[in-house]
Amino acid sequence: MTCARRVFRCFRCVERAADRITGAAGPWFVCLAICLLSVGILSFFTIIQPTLPFPWLTAPFSMLIALNVVGHYYHVCTVPPGSVGDTRSLVHGNGFLWAAPPPNGGLCLNIVRARMSRCRKCNDTRPERAHHCRICNRCVLKFDHHCPVSSFYSPPRINQCVGLYNERHFVLFMAYLVLATSIFTILGFPHAFIAFGFTVAVWTHSLPPFLFITTYILCLVLAFAVAIMLAWHMWGVARGETAVEAQDHEVYTKWAKERGETFINSYDLGTRRNLALFFNVGEGGYPLYTLFLPFRLMPYTDGYAWAHRDGLSRHHGVREGEELTDGEDDEDYGGNAGGDNHDR
Ligand SMILES: [Zn+2]
Ligand SMILES: [Zn+2]
Repeated sequence: MTCARRVFRCFRCVERAADRITGAAGPWFVCLAICLLSVGILSFFTIIQPTLPFPWLTAPFSMLIALNVVGHYYHVCTVPPGSVGDTRSLVHGNGFLWAAPPPNGGLCLNIVRARMSRCRKCNDTRPERAHHCRICNRCVLKFDHHCPVSSFYSPPRINQCVGLYNERHFVLFMAYLVLATSIFTILGFPHAFIAFGFTVAVWTHSLPPFLFITTYILCLVLAFAVAIMLAWHMWGVARGETAVEAQDHEVYTKWAKERGETFINSYDLGTRRNLALFFNVGEGGYPLYTLFLPFRLMPYTDGYAWAHRDGLSRHHGVREGEELTDGEDDEDYGGNAGGDNHDR
């Protein structure tokens, strides 16, 4: 066995152990997230909100932001990402929190039926943009990544992927979380000053000062950390690619360059159209107000047909059969120059 193979196997063992820990800790992450959200909302509405000027004017906006944070988190945890062959995901609901279906059509998009392939891990026949999640051990439509803080829907010990049906909620949750934590940090500053004991003013609230200080510091950290994550995700959305595809496209760009060609992502329809399709709003989609309320709605596609750039039905600059696939079995690792064997 070559040295490279040994190192690779060792790396895979560490990676699998990390997956198991992440899988087991998922429900705890969710409980922690719910506790933190509850304490944050309680702190804001009992301590910060009453001291704001024009509370009757600002309260509805604060409530709307809190509602969106909680609502989108609930959706990320409970809306299945869309598994191959899971027809339940394809049915538009009309119950609580469902937005009314958009009027049909009107949009001229170059929609192409997805090319199908077989997953070498779960043996499912899957459409393009679906990838195998090794934590969930199934293929997920438009797989983006596996999220350890959203695992309520799946059975215990298995977490939830972010994919076609819940990616919109994931991004909106991050957006509203950044907004909420930023507002908390700015408006809560004078209260944090008192809670720290930096002034002669006395802490008169029923919430213990250490709990407010902890929440405040956490909000400060989250505001920065989640803003960076959000910016990175939005960058991908604007370019019409998922986190997984971003890695693949880097490789395709390199290969195309070596051949003197240019790689063109055929899913990239331009920033505006990419954003509209991702959130499924605007022309041919749901009304824009659905971005401001925690509605559940359907994506523009069922994952078996995708909008491509005009004149393209697949990426430009990548040859047929050259597309990267999910990680193959360890035995297949042979140091492919193209880096064909990467895992999700
Ligand atoms: Zn699979
Ligand atoms: Zn997963």
